[in-house]
Amino acid sequence: MAVAVPLHEIRAEFAELDDPVDRTTYLIEIGRTLPPLDEHFKTEENRVLGCQARVWLVAEERAGPPRRLDFLADSDAQIVRGLIAVLLAAFNGKMPAEILAFPIDKLFAELKLPALVPMRSNGLTAMVRRIQAIAKVAAASEPPAKADSESLPLVPLKPLAREDRSRGNGHPREEQKPLLPATIVTGQPQAASPIDVAAIRRDFPILQTTLADGCPLVYLDNAASTQRPKQVIDSMVEAYEHYYSNVHRAGHRLAVESSAHYEAARESVRQLINARSPTEIIFTPGTTAAINLVARSWGDTNVKAGDEILLTMMEHHSNIVPWQELAQRTGCTIRWTPITDDYQIDLDAFERLLSPKTKLIAITAVSNVLGTINPIDQMIEVAHAAGAVVLIDAAQAVPHEPIDVRARNVDFLAFSGHKMMGPSGVGVLYGREELLDRMPPFLGGGSMIKRVTTEGFEPADLPYKFEAGTPVIVPAIGMGKAIQYLQKIGMQSVRAHELMLTRQAHALLADIPGLRILGPEPEHKGGIVTFVMDGIHPDDISKALDLQGIAVRAGHHCAMPLHERLGITASTRASFYLYNTVEEVGKLAAGMREAQRILGR
Ligand code: PMP
Repeated sequence: MAVAVPLHEIRAEFAELDDPVDRTTYLIEIGRTLPPLDEHFKTEENRVLGCQARVWLVAEERAGPPRRLDFLADSDAQIVRGLIAVLLAAFNGKMPAEILAFPIDKLFAELKLPALVPMRSNGLTAMVRRIQAIAKVAAASEPPAKADSESLPLVPLKPLAREDRSRGNGHPREEQKPLLPATIVTGQPQAASPIDVAAIRRDFPILQTTLADGCPLVYLDNAASTQRPKQVIDSMVEAYEHYYSNVHRAGHRLAVESSAHYEAARESVRQLINARSPTEIIFTPGTTAAINLVARSWGDTNVKAGDEILLTMMEHHSNIVPWQELAQRTGCTIRWTPITDDYQIDLDAFERLLSPKTKLIAITAVSNVLGTINPIDQMIEVAHAAGAVVLIDAAQAVPHEPIDVRARNVDFLAFSGHKMMGPSGVGVLYGREELLDRMPPFLGGGSMIKRVTTEGFEPADLPYKFEAGTPVIVPAIGMGKAIQYLQKIGMQSVRAHELMLTRQAHALLADIPGLRILGPEPEHKGGIVTFVMDGIHPDDISKALDLQGIAVRAGHHCAMPLHERLGITASTRASFYLYNTVEEVGKLAAGMREAQRILGR
């Protein structure tokens, strides 16, 4: 099989193009010249895992000798198709040994691909590895007398029709207008925000900067991680510059001061969620670590074969995999609460699924994809009535709305500092004291003991029993500062501001042809607007938005079962926080129209 666009042409074109928009457009253009892969090759076996979009790759052998290979691949994302075109131009028609010796990294560097598609470098590496693996198998084996389907990963293909390989694709680059900065669309007037966003934005150094190409940053990836105000950054600098020391060990002044700040941060967390006592607040590396702590410590001691853990179809992988691992260890069963077609938890099914076998329900308070605010009060009540313990994944809730663990009768609650303007590396597990008291330590080591002898150890009291080793000292102090910042604004005001932005986003995006929002109406969701667009892969959308300085996230958002339930593999998510503006929501909508134009729809 000839290549769609020869390598020398790709090299020459890339050498002439400086502008990232032109380079991306060219990548999309050469992607369009790829012949489509026959549907029957789009199997799981032929998938290249590790790519954000779906990629299938197969190989065929050219009539020889000498033995030469051709690769054929396809993706549902246009930019990835462009990358595939580069790979095929580099590798097709070569002998296995030539493929293995080909300096592909040098080519990527020459074309400056890593800088152009940083998010796809894992996928690119995965595709190269697959090609090299196939070449290795071919190099090590004798050429088969006839096509041998046993010799996978070599997959024999039918020759392709010549005309499919021509470069013409009906989308000549010259016709495409250069990318213009997104115009601001303000849409219908919205209720005024209760917070002074302009003043808040001045606290965030990163929001004062522009991107490398001078584009202002529109940061709408807050569900993944938020930005930090200067007050939080300064609190950590101050700790390192003036009083840093390990905590709870030495008696010197720095240790005392460090310990006091660390415990003050714990007290800030306690106040924020209204826990009864700071002993119920365990600092962990994040939500994921907090859930794993419960699954290991509580799960291993309270769950046995035949018991059930009840999840919902809208959980993040962090609230799925630890329970699946528990099931592997204990033989318990995972049950799944379905969601309705209007993106809500099916409460009737939830109640039906609860039984005396249900030992724990683990639910997200707010879906990180749909934004749905779940009726956790109601779910906690029925779960408790059925005798189950409740873990709330509050990673998308605590940063955005008031949460009172006592009023809501929560057993376990997990959240992360980096999603609420604190640093990464710190999070919280709240647990009711009676539960935590009965749980064995999760990690063993320094600080989590009262006494160690050659015979054994006696665990420390709460919360230290669960904070083995040197804890996350300065990140916890930064998180404490972020909580103070949030409380000064007021969690009700944060919620009201995000609701205003979400309403605006729904109003503007609903007008875009082919765009479908996944999730309930703004009143029933947090500041998360996830959508799909007819005929355009989310990966391409996010790249097209990124070219306009708009940061959103595309992919499965660590919620593969939910995406499968929705019948899609990926979506695009814009997520807001207290520093986002109505103008930025307008830029998102305008940016989507521009994305449609760039991507030729
Ligand atoms: N649960 C939910 C609902 C989330 O959104 C996230 C982060 N995307 C997590 C859990 C995991 O949080 P972390 O990566 O901070 O551990």
